Amino acid sequence: MTATIIDGKTIAAELRGKVAFEVAQLKREHGVTPGLAVVLVGQNAASEVYVRSKSKAVVEAGMTPSDHKLPETVSEAELLALIDKLNKNKAVSGILVQLPLPPQIDPQKVIAAIDPAKDVDGFHPVNVGRLSLGLPALVPCTPSGCIMLAKMVWPSLAGLDALVIGRSNIVGKPVAQLLLAENATVTVAHSKTKDLPALARRADLLIAAIGKAELVRGDWVKPGAIVIDVGINRVAGDGGKSRIVGDVAFDEAVKVAGAITPVPGGVGPMTIACLMLNTLRAACAQNGVKAPR
Ligand code: NDP
Repeated sequence: MTATIIDGKTIAAELRGKVAFEVAQLKREHGVTPGLAVVLVGQNAASEVYVRSKSKAVVEAGMTPSDHKLPETVSEAELLALIDKLNKNKAVSGILVQLPLPPQIDPQKVIAAIDPAKDVDGFHPVNVGRLSLGLPALVPCTPSGCIMLAKMVWPSLAGLDALVIGRSNIVGKPVAQLLLAENATVTVAHSKTKDLPALARRADLLIAAIGKAELVRGDWVKPGAIVIDVGINRVAGDGGKSRIVGDVAFDEAVKVAGAITPVPGGVGPMTIACLMLNTLRAACAQNGVKAPR
């Protein structure tokens, strides 16, 4: 038996289509067009690729993109001044500052400067706090995507033993909060965790957000478990070419799991789709319109 492959590409395309439908309705009925401002500092090839695909998705969703490219040498004060301008601009519903930032800029200071109502990345301390309090919040995109994918194959996560490997502020911690909100029993593992394979073997739902190529082996996976692989790791492939693999040894895990996300084509596409959803939700909230679920 092999696992069900959770097709993130198709699920993300459906979500983006739903967002586009809601955006058209928001325009028609309320005269509101959501706008996403993306701020990119310096020249990081990977960041530039992300920013381009975000802008494309914004346009496809019928929203207004505004890209702000700043030089590598920009001062923290200049970046904060731009954020202040974007906070005050009514046409901007969401603000995203692409990380990492150059060393002269404190990322926490920048995140804290974004109006929490426009914090579509969900990284502002107000949104982080609201999520942990179980209050409505703008929730980080990759974690939201993980939960949506898991619920595609198992609509109620209540009572499941969930293991999150990784405790970053961007993925591990918020995914754990979301799982708690879904009434799963949550364990969070990290680099100091003892006997990770044994812990993993108990998990009905395993979310790997580690950044270590194929660390999770097939014999770590509980038979029938749902495996969500967040990792994006570039490794040497055939003929001197590189290829992308996840944090889970897919070929092994697919023979044991009940359902599994591939890399690429699993969690990755969901991140941008959830960003579109967050931008729509932010625009609705800023205009007193009931947001779609
Ligand atoms: P971080 O490096 O910030 O965090 C990695 C976490 O994994 C840390 O908590 C670390 O533990 C833990 N860890 C590292 N090694 C081990 C180990 N041997 N055993 C157990 N735990 C370990 O990474 P991110 O959370 O930002 O990203 C994780 C992965 O997800 C990366 O591959 C990244 O590229 C990918 N990613 C994918 C996205 C997508 O859209 N699909 C979006 C964001 C990230 P400790 O805290 O103790 O150091």
